[in-house]
Amino acid sequence: MSDSSFDVIVIGGGPAGYPCAIRAAQNKLKVACIDEWKNYDGSHAFGGTCLNAGCIPSKALLESSELYHRAHVEFAAHGITAKGLEFDVAEMQKRKAKIVKASTQGINALFKGAGVTGLQGHGRLLAGNRVEYTAADGSKQELVAKHVVLASGSAPMPLKSLPFDGKQVVDSWGALEFDAVPKRLGVIGAGVIGLELGSVWRRLGAEVVVLEAMEQFLWMADQAVAKEALRHFKKLGLDVRLGAKVTGADVRKDGVALKYTDAKGEQSVTVDKVVVAIGRRPYTQDLLGEGTGVEVDERGFIKVDQECRTGAGNVWAIGDVVRGPMLAHKGKEEGVMVGDLIAGLHSEVNYNAVPSVIYTAPEIAWVGQTEEQVKASGREYKVGSFPFAASGRARAMEAPAGFCKVIAAKDDDEILGVHIVGPMAGELIAEAVLAMEYSASTEDLQRTMHAHPTLSEALHEAALSADKRAIDIPNR
Ligand SMILES: Cc1cc2nc3c(=O)[nH]c(=O)nc-3n(C[C@H](O)[C@H](O)[C@H](O)COP(=O)(O)OP(=O)(O)OC[C@H]3O[C@@H](n4cnc5c(N)ncnc54)[C@H](O)[C@@H]3O)c2cc1C
Repeated sequence: MSDSSFDVIVIGGGPAGYPCAIRAAQNKLKVACIDEWKNYDGSHAFGGTCLNAGCIPSKALLESSELYHRAHVEFAAHGITAKGLEFDVAEMQKRKAKIVKASTQGINALFKGAGVTGLQGHGRLLAGNRVEYTAADGSKQELVAKHVVLASGSAPMPLKSLPFDGKQVVDSWGALEFDAVPKRLGVIGAGVIGLELGSVWRRLGAEVVVLEAMEQFLWMADQAVAKEALRHFKKLGLDVRLGAKVTGADVRKDGVALKYTDAKGEQSVTVDKVVVAIGRRPYTQDLLGEGTGVEVDERGFIKVDQECRTGAGNVWAIGDVVRGPMLAHKGKEEGVMVGDLIAGLHSEVNYNAVPSVIYTAPEIAWVGQTEEQVKASGREYKVGSFPFAASGRARAMEAPAGFCKVIAAKDDDEILGVHIVGPMAGELIAEAVLAMEYSASTEDLQRTMHAHPTLSEALHEAALSADKRAIDIPNR
């Protein structure tokens, strides 16, 4: 096999592509991974949106801003006086950049360890499983592979009436790069990304208005959780306006006048900066040459089956560029599955047990069906829930907001969905994911010993409460 021929070429080195490359190499295949990500400073880096401009930098800033906020609002309750509390956005950004760099450079080391050839530049699939590779210096080379995996990810969706200008009107990446706290920040879209970014800048003092076109808050979440979360976001000072459809904007040097309509008619609000966070679209620009046989649906997603096979022989597609939730861990599991399937091993992804997490305060996390979905399915069900206010650990943490909710089938007791709003929800949900992966019943959770005092006891008690057998709250 020459230097231009591989068993597997992965196009895209984000959280879907790089694990796929590593797993395929672990399976003794000769693998190359091509990625064209370029940072604002012009440097190339593997890791895609997640490591460079998404999951990791957003969590770094969420952590910094949350610590500052908690010092302000919680320390007094612990008997701690924090006088002259200040923050430095430049230092926060420096810390964030360091974390991002360590994470992305880690991939180079992982590739080296696994024997993956990392190629920085553009990849384009040609007919016959050939790949045109354009290096950073513009030179072109034709590579060939037995299998090609497309993992080109997604890009932020622009708003026609308010195009990005990178200064006053920015996408999520731009909102992670602010060098000062905007006095007034507009966020368009109250989805996961809008709420997380809005929280960061609100905690640091910005007046934040969130305009959401839908009447329903967090439509994809269990509505009991959404209601509880909205209450806390309002308490934080996020001005969430539902049913607010942005119709236009006047971008001036001294601010952006956003025009929108809601139930009361035409409205407007003026802010200094706007983050457009209305969703992301699959990214396939200049990815597919003539005659590849790869099909794209009407929304731009590459068509694949349950095992991520495209219709074209030995061409696979994974991550944000295919159907399903746009989540790093969903892409990673698809990548690992494809890396195994190519090697002839058995593998699958359980799309019924994909956790979702919103890293706000309180955190929100769920897996499986919402109560609304179970109700609509017609299946008889039972619900158990437990408030963190009744958890000794949550009270000790000064974090009593929220609850755990377990939904299970009435006939065979199988857990159908778990929904958490409260402290460390994103960590707690892992137990529920494992339970659902094993088709566990509430009885399985009920009979599992949970350490005391821990937040996980709230999930245990919620499972008990589904059968009106909770110990630490009255059963109704
Ligand atoms: C602000 C923000 C916060 C987020 N937070 C979370 C979170 O907390 N948890 C979570 O699960 N998800 C989160 N996400 C979503 C997550 O980032 C994506 O689901 C994930 O990155 C998708 O992985 P991917 O590998 O499919 O695509 P990407 O991460 O987009 O990677 C695709 C890579 O392919 C490269 N590429 C594209 N076309 C080509 C080509 N032709 N040739 C070479 N290279 C190419 C791109 O440059 C990119 O590097 C967040 C997203 C954002 C924007």
